[in-house]
Amino acid sequence: MKLRIGCIPGDGIGPEIIRETGKVLERVADKYGHKLEYTEILMGGASIDVHGVPLTEEAIAAAKVSEAILMGSIGGDPATSPWYRLEPKRRPEAGLLRLRKELNLFANLRPAVLYPQLAGACPLKEEISSRGFDILIVRELTGGLYFGERKTIEENGRLKAIDTLTYTEDEIRRIAVKAFEVAMKRKKKVTSVDKANVLDSSRLWRKVTQEVASSYPEVELEHMLVDNCAMQLVKDPAQFDVILTENMFGDILSDEASMVTGSIGMLASASLNDSRFGLYEPSHGSAPDIAGKDMANPIATLLSAAMMLRYSFDLKQEAEDVERAVHAVLDKKYRTVDIMSEGCTPVGCSEMGSLLAAEI
Ligand code: NAD
Repeated sequence: MKLRIGCIPGDGIGPEIIRETGKVLERVADKYGHKLEYTEILMGGASIDVHGVPLTEEAIAAAKVSEAILMGSIGGDPATSPWYRLEPKRRPEAGLLRLRKELNLFANLRPAVLYPQLAGACPLKEEISSRGFDILIVRELTGGLYFGERKTIEENGRLKAIDTLTYTEDEIRRIAVKAFEVAMKRKKKVTSVDKANVLDSSRLWRKVTQEVASSYPEVELEHMLVDNCAMQLVKDPAQFDVILTENMFGDILSDEASMVTGSIGMLASASLNDSRFGLYEPSHGSAPDIAGKDMANPIATLLSAAMMLRYSFDLKQEAEDVERAVHAVLDKKYRTVDIMSEGCTPVGCSEMGSLLAAEI
């Protein structure tokens, strides 16, 4: 099978983690008889340096003809990088926001997995962390409070700020369908998170989610209030499989879930539209503090590539092979500096990539 991948190395550690991920994908392609066809796309600071803007029309066109995008990370240190002296719409992050909009990426998937080998990094009590967890948060990405009408007005000599939270039933339905579809590929449980005791948008969310559930009789659906979900994530994360939620709740809960794993260099993410197209990137940033020092952990990017194999190319076995390689390397106690613990062997980004590739 030919895999046409748009590749955005980006800034900071981006090029290093993409290079190491590429090593592993090359092995996967060899083993299973696939052909990788990469188109390199400039975005973020790397594009500003060449074109003066964080994303060109040509880059958008190249992204649109790819079957999936694999991205490192973009951005620099806002305190020192000249990119942040530009007006906001010319800064690195503006490129990513524009690309997400152009590609209509409305579904954000963020796994929070506690690897047994890294349980020591989990800030939860051992009686909780020892049960492990494997959660996938499906967050609506293009609606809700962040995209509603907003203004600040003066009323009776006092300032008043207004933000609006709107969702249409179609917006809710398409993200709910995504959540149920991915649940079918996992443990078949969806926890839909809302604030239906207060918000109308949440009551509609609940109604539409319930309707969608009737098309997926194998999947168990439960509803949970967002305040309870925030508590349950630290009290009993093992109860969750797929968490489905709207934009702002998802923003907060996905950061909470990733923090309880304790390992930022291990967390993948995917942003999908309603075809099989997706943009796959690690959850972390471009880590300018360690860029070019061969210290970055490439695993979050590699696990994002595994999501790409699974969701955009439907290559389940290949995705599992990549995930197995990660487990094998952790079992052999090789660690990059961010996940280092006593008794383990420290390795750099490049060696980690080679070790992972050798496990395929
Ligand atoms: P960051 O995630 O880049 O770094 C936070 C800390 O974690 C740093 O100490 C870093 O060294 C470490 N770290 C992150 N990834 C690591 C890895 N793979 N291996 C080892 N250590 C790792 O967050 P930040 O410092 O707040 O942001 C830096 C830049 O990244 C900013 O310009 C920010 O805007 C950008 N950013 C980009 C994205 C994206 O491209 N989607 C996401 C978040 C932040």
